[in-house]
Amino acid sequence: MATLSHWINGQTVTADTDTRLGDITNPATGVVSGQVALGSKATVESAIAAASAAFPAWRDTSLSRRTSILFSFRELLNARKQELAEIITAEHGKVLSDALGEVARGQEVVEFACAIAGHLRGGHTENASTKLDVHSLRQPIGVAAIISPFNFPAMVPMWFFPVAIATGNTVVLKPSEKDPSAANWLAELWKEAGLPDGVFNVVHGDKEAVDTILESPEVASVSFVGSTPIAKYVYENGTAVGKRVQALGGAKNHMLVLPDADLDLAADAAVNAGYGAAGERCMAISVVVAVDSVADELVAKIAERTKTLRVGDGATEPDMGPLVTAAHRDKVAGYIDAGAEAGATVVLDGRENTPADGFFLNPTLFDDVTTDMSIYTDEIFGPVLCVVRVPGYDEGLDLINANPYGNGTAIFTNDGGAARRYENEVEVGMVGINVPIPVPVGYYSFGGWKNSLFGDTHAYGDEGVHFFTRGKVVTSRWLDPSHGGLNLGFPTND
Ligand code: NAD
Repeated sequence: MATLSHWINGQTVTADTDTRLGDITNPATGVVSGQVALGSKATVESAIAAASAAFPAWRDTSLSRRTSILFSFRELLNARKQELAEIITAEHGKVLSDALGEVARGQEVVEFACAIAGHLRGGHTENASTKLDVHSLRQPIGVAAIISPFNFPAMVPMWFFPVAIATGNTVVLKPSEKDPSAANWLAELWKEAGLPDGVFNVVHGDKEAVDTILESPEVASVSFVGSTPIAKYVYENGTAVGKRVQALGGAKNHMLVLPDADLDLAADAAVNAGYGAAGERCMAISVVVAVDSVADELVAKIAERTKTLRVGDGATEPDMGPLVTAAHRDKVAGYIDAGAEAGATVVLDGRENTPADGFFLNPTLFDDVTTDMSIYTDEIFGPVLCVVRVPGYDEGLDLINANPYGNGTAIFTNDGGAARRYENEVEVGMVGINVPIPVPVGYYSFGGWKNSLFGDTHAYGDEGVHFFTRGKVVTSRWLDPSHGGLNLGFPTND
């Protein structure tokens, strides 16, 4: 059985010090398709050293050269995205067209980074004081580490590395050990695009690899995406030793449906955003907050649509694929048990009639969910949609704002005033108005509030450029020094 190794300094590296292996499994069949090396401290340190050694030359590589490599990478990615999507489906389980969608959203960030020269333009002020000029620069920070989750093995790394590389940093990516092959594929593509060796490195592993990254003085920044407890751990430990950290965590995304909404549109959106990728999206809708007067009709419309969904191997293009691992499938099934026991109304039970092989659950729909139930309080990360009923807008808003997560949310209404009020009042980082999965386009920035993001910088867009660069301001005067004279006072610009 093949073992996937690390990618360090432009080549595949098999390290003697790696004593542990993880299984790579096709979730649609349950068959182990390969193994992945779990990097030891020494292996991860060698990847960081390669990135560190490549940094001085890369930071001084011209913007036009960097840009032309980014354009090549974009062209190669676009031409060969089907290969990448097939890898994603085989290891994550999501439907092939969904995997292609993931690649397309990552590609948007590559395209944003192709315009890096414009984003790095500084300011210049002539004669701020007599014959004294001021200009600003943004410079790369060094070795940027990226630690990514299983649910978007290509897109989430692409939220960060195009911008990190374009701004002159070097990268160590530690992808999820559950679906690690996409990272190596992307590394080989960079090499083909002409990226110098050592600028983009991939190390596989688990906690040992992550802790090595956090402890390394050579790592300047950490971009983490994953569950909230690990995001908090990475943020606290990384910032404690002076690293710049953006740590994106878990989510519980609510969709508020007001009585004047187009209920067919809202029902379509709830099904698409609730069950797409088997609910394993950080922007999935997991709670529909329905105003009482339309709740019966809305639940009926959601149930009617959900019953038509076909579940199967993502490679055969059903509506929904399996969960990522058997353990995760069992955990989600445990939440369905708990919801039923707690008294929520089981409208559709996803534990029934699942395919025999693989890690499948069918879509589950709960009605009459209350905020004390674990199916409401916890991030389930599976195909389980909960409906909570509220008397009106104010109660819906209060419920959403009381939730400790604040990643994404959506409101469905035909009342522009209500939508505008919601966008102003809701304490969530990404808001959709009649749009269920409001992932910002590549030239805005992605990030949640509260327990969905630790740190203050969102991913990609201008905030990404800011995260991967440091500001410097230069004040210069080109006078004959002999005219300066002594003056020990604090400089003023009079
Ligand atoms: P996870 O937290 O288990 O793993 C994320 C990364 O952390 C992986 O690379 C993993 O190897 C590493 N890791 C796991 N346990 C660790 C430990 N004890 N110490 C150090 N590192 C550890 O998350 P996951 O299950 O891979 O992904 C799903 C989670 O990611 C969900 O909570 C989801 O909401 C979240 N997510 C959030 C966003 C967002 O933008 N906010 C996007 C995608 C996924």
